[in-house]
Amino acid sequence: MAKLNIGCHLSISGGYKNIGLEAVSLDANTFQFFTRNPRGGKAKKLDENDCNALNEIMSANGFSNIVAHAPYTLNGCSADEGIRKFALDVMRDDFEKLEYVNGVLYNFHPGSHVGQGESKGIEQIIYMLDNAMKENMKTHVLLETMAGKGSEIGRTFEELKAIIDGARLGDKIGVCLDTCHVFDAGYDIVNDLDGVLTKFDKVVGLDRLCAIHLNDSMNPIGSHKDRHAKIGEGHIGLEAITRIINHDALKNLPFELETPNDIEGYAREIRLLRDLYKG
Ligand code: FE
Ligand code: FE
Ligand code: ZN
Repeated sequence: MAKLNIGCHLSISGGYKNIGLEAVSLDANTFQFFTRNPRGGKAKKLDENDCNALNEIMSANGFSNIVAHAPYTLNGCSADEGIRKFALDVMRDDFEKLEYVNGVLYNFHPGSHVGQGESKGIEQIIYMLDNAMKENMKTHVLLETMAGKGSEIGRTFEELKAIIDGARLGDKIGVCLDTCHVFDAGYDIVNDLDGVLTKFDKVVGLDRLCAIHLNDSMNPIGSHKDRHAKIGEGHIGLEAITRIINHDALKNLPFELETPNDIEGYAREIRLLRDLYKG
């Protein structure tokens, strides 16, 4: 029987080996971490032995892919040239370091165009990707689906597809679907999961879907709020979440919890979801 690939967001502050051990202790077989402080500070110096130790832990424990999340503040489509330059530098530096870790999916929020308009924003995001990505990189790059608060790009599947199509190395770019975000963006994954996935397949292609952020939502569909709730405690609900983890098109992907929990809360949600998984 197949095993659910489930994990949660963990802190990398103790290093790569420790984050792997922490995931194992939670019965997770994947995890997500910020590549650096969410405020966008300096990343730790690279320790190759530490990366290798994590690689060994992951292969010994049957881990699926893991997700490295770019800092929230990374905005490659800011109207401010300095902020765009910073985003490009961070992305380049992250890509370089992550080459030492196996099975990494690099997830980032496409960005907020802050009034420049969607097409200008998409153009600037493509510029960032074209200047940060390398032909021979191991890391796979993921665009996260967004709730559409403010001027966020990525609230529609069409916007994500436009970025992928425009990027020179678009074949190395996939999507991470955040269940809270797509619900907040207006996609009805509660009453019409099949319909939403069919739409995704038509616009982007299900073969591009590489990871799921598994979150409930504090707000109703279409609210554009982006407030995550614990599993089963929001407007998505446990029944819909059970259908999501067991859906044929999704059930083998890595699921990352970004729910408002401490470590014990994450362990409980991981146990609950393993129980609800039909394999
Ligand atoms: Fe995110
Ligand atoms: Fe997310
Ligand atoms: Zn969110």
